[in-house]
Amino acid sequence: MNTDNIIKIIGKMACRMEKEKLFLTELDNAIADGDHGINMAKGFAAVQTKTENLGEKDIGTVFKTVGMTLVSAVGGSAGPLYGTAFMRAGMVEANKTEMDINDFLSCMKAANEGVMMRGKSVYGEKTMLDSMIPALNEMEKAKADGLSPKAVLEAGVKAAREGVEYTKTIAATKGRASYIGERSIGHQDPGATSFTYLLEEIYQAL
Ligand code: ADP
Ligand code: MG
Repeated sequence: MNTDNIIKIIGKMACRMEKEKLFLTELDNAIADGDHGINMAKGFAAVQTKTENLGEKDIGTVFKTVGMTLVSAVGGSAGPLYGTAFMRAGMVEANKTEMDINDFLSCMKAANEGVMMRGKSVYGEKTMLDSMIPALNEMEKAKADGLSPKAVLEAGVKAAREGVEYTKTIAATKGRASYIGERSIGHQDPGATSFTYLLEEIYQAL
């Protein structure tokens, strides 16, 4: 993939966040403050505007722009968390104008580490990481098994969706949903859900 391909995918992500705005907000409403869909749609709309003319730049610059825009345009925790994820991916892709599946997996690894550092969170706390971590693990396995990039992404999407299901079974110990603790059981995490949508857009673009 080149810079243009990636800018197109970011545009698709923005459309998807707009489309899922109400649903993500309902999910957040059930366990926290009901703004996740609004945050993601607003953040990615700003991201789309800021990235559409970066076709001549390297992929690192595009990811850094996405990250900084999400941090500044979105209040709450998801903006800075996803923003950190994209900024970390931007460091991996600095000065690169092409991206292959190995680069993508390096970006995802850096993104996961960024979220864990920024959120002081780990797997199993009912956050976006419950989809991000299994998705990365399964994609790395699929890559090691010699599967095609498309099959690697397919394995990631499957694991991310299973991660969303897993979040229904546990209580939140990080973020606003942790205020209601055990009462968050039975509800799926909004951030794990939005991450799954973003990964689905990458898969569909492949
Ligand atoms: P806020 O919680 O500030 O209202 P959002 O509603 O936009 O922000 O985002 C909530 C989502 O952010 C949660 O569903 C969860 O996935 C994620 N999240 C919150 N806190 C953390 C954290 N410390 N680490 C990782 N993810 C987190
Ligand atoms: Mg919220």
